[in-house]
Amino acid sequence: MAALSEVPERAEPLAAWLQPSLQDTAGRDPLGLNTITLDRVLPQLVPGILQLSERARYFSIYPWMLWQFADRKRPARADELDNFIRRREYELCLAMKLCPHCSAYKAIGGNSAGPRVAAGEDPFARGLSVDSIKGGFGLYYRSPLVELGAVAPTGTPLGPEAVPTPIEVLLKDDRAMSLGRAFHESIRDTEYFQRYERTNDPIPRQVLEDLAERICLCRLPRLPTERDAVRELMFYPASEEAAEACDARCRAFALYLALLDRDEGVAIHEGRFWQGVITQFLLAPTADNREGRTIAAWAALAMKECMQDALCSVWTSFCRTGVQSQGLDGVTQPELAEMIRGLADGDDLELGGTRLKITPDEPALAVQRRAVAAARGLDWNDVRWWAADQNTAIAGLVTLMVFVDRVPEPSRVHPLWTDIAGRHSEHQDGLLGVLSLLKARLRVQPTVDELLDWTVRRFLIGPHEAIAYSKLPKATFRFSWEESGRLRFFTPGGHGLDRFDPSDDRRGTMALLSEDVGFWERSEIQSPVLTDDGRDFVAEVFER
Ligand SMILES: [Zn+2]
Repeated sequence: MAALSEVPERAEPLAAWLQPSLQDTAGRDPLGLNTITLDRVLPQLVPGILQLSERARYFSIYPWMLWQFADRKRPARADELDNFIRRREYELCLAMKLCPHCSAYKAIGGNSAGPRVAAGEDPFARGLSVDSIKGGFGLYYRSPLVELGAVAPTGTPLGPEAVPTPIEVLLKDDRAMSLGRAFHESIRDTEYFQRYERTNDPIPRQVLEDLAERICLCRLPRLPTERDAVRELMFYPASEEAAEACDARCRAFALYLALLDRDEGVAIHEGRFWQGVITQFLLAPTADNREGRTIAAWAALAMKECMQDALCSVWTSFCRTGVQSQGLDGVTQPELAEMIRGLADGDDLELGGTRLKITPDEPALAVQRRAVAAARGLDWNDVRWWAADQNTAIAGLVTLMVFVDRVPEPSRVHPLWTDIAGRHSEHQDGLLGVLSLLKARLRVQPTVDELLDWTVRRFLIGPHEAIAYSKLPKATFRFSWEESGRLRFFTPGGHGLDRFDPSDDRRGTMALLSEDVGFWERSEIQSPVLTDDGRDFVAEVFER
């Protein structure tokens, strides 16, 4: 066998096919509703888990890389570490793309590795994963690994001299080291590691096919030592200071698993997750045990997402109509009022099999009564889904009125529900704010037209202008007031008139991560089932 040829690793020139990894997010939250969830609720409800830190095995892969980098005494420079990580990410991704057991979902570097695997390349030339500093580690996994207490970020004073570290390093405690060591056990005997990992030689396809069996993301549940090290990272606190955040994280995952146990649709649909938690909450809205408190907080978030989707229908319909019906320089105030009046017509609108026959000049309270009756057999998620599907302003308004009727009285539910329901952003009201203001407005007995007009001005026009100004110089305006007093509508980007997405509530991430650590699996007919470990986890966390 040839001697192991160790050659210095050079940075490969970046190829044009590398895709930018961070997409521009300006304009995706035109009403300031998503930021309530992402910045003011989730850091408390599920700390340490980012939307795109989705595959649990990276929680052992990156510790392994950092450990190997330090162990080989590579120069402690950011560019060296960057190259070290992205080369290995790319090669591991080639192997994952060759995995016979899975599609390597969310493998870092898939956009570059996937096409070369599909093209039948053999042997594979060396390359880099993604066009971003320190690759997927820098983008998605560094901050969770820091927060979960396995990695010291750049600048952390380390060693007896307390010298700030110029690069990220794996902490030298058992908890962190066991992650790197466990992955090392999987990779150390492979031909890839023995023969290619430290060279620049092209790698035969067969070598990477063999590697896949050992290192693919999907293999983690079958590797008890590595899997348990990742579970410990996620679900046991690194220190006393981390205990509260860790507890919240455990309760979030236990909630997800408990809901999944009742309804397998929770693994796939946001709405089923929302409905599951709302249903549980309404059965026992004041329950004060660990499970009850968890449900109360998450139910407030779920209701907020339902409310947001209804408001999104008003928004989308308003913006589209504005763009279609404005003259060359926008609409005047009377034209705007007339336009909104047109949107308040809902003669044909049908909810739960009942035709609502809404006219703009009738009392909104009368419409609310009819809508509440029509929606009797529908749950929160059914109604918000109906509003999103209709995607009209009047359907959005009707749904908001149904939610006004259904939203719990804060004095009658657990205070944690009220706490989360009251969260708002700089320019936008949250669940309680929007629905309480609407409720107060209904008391002055507006017509449907008047209520829609007020809703558009209060929750859409005001907040959107403030938010769009705050994002300048990026042009995210869907409309703005001209000096002439006209409202001028715009279509920013290719999808400026589409609905904006519901907030990511980490359900998808919790689904993938909890499957990866073996808390649930797919049965032979592909339906999700909790494993014994998953059941034990729920019972332990909720002290059942
Ligand atoms: Zn796989």
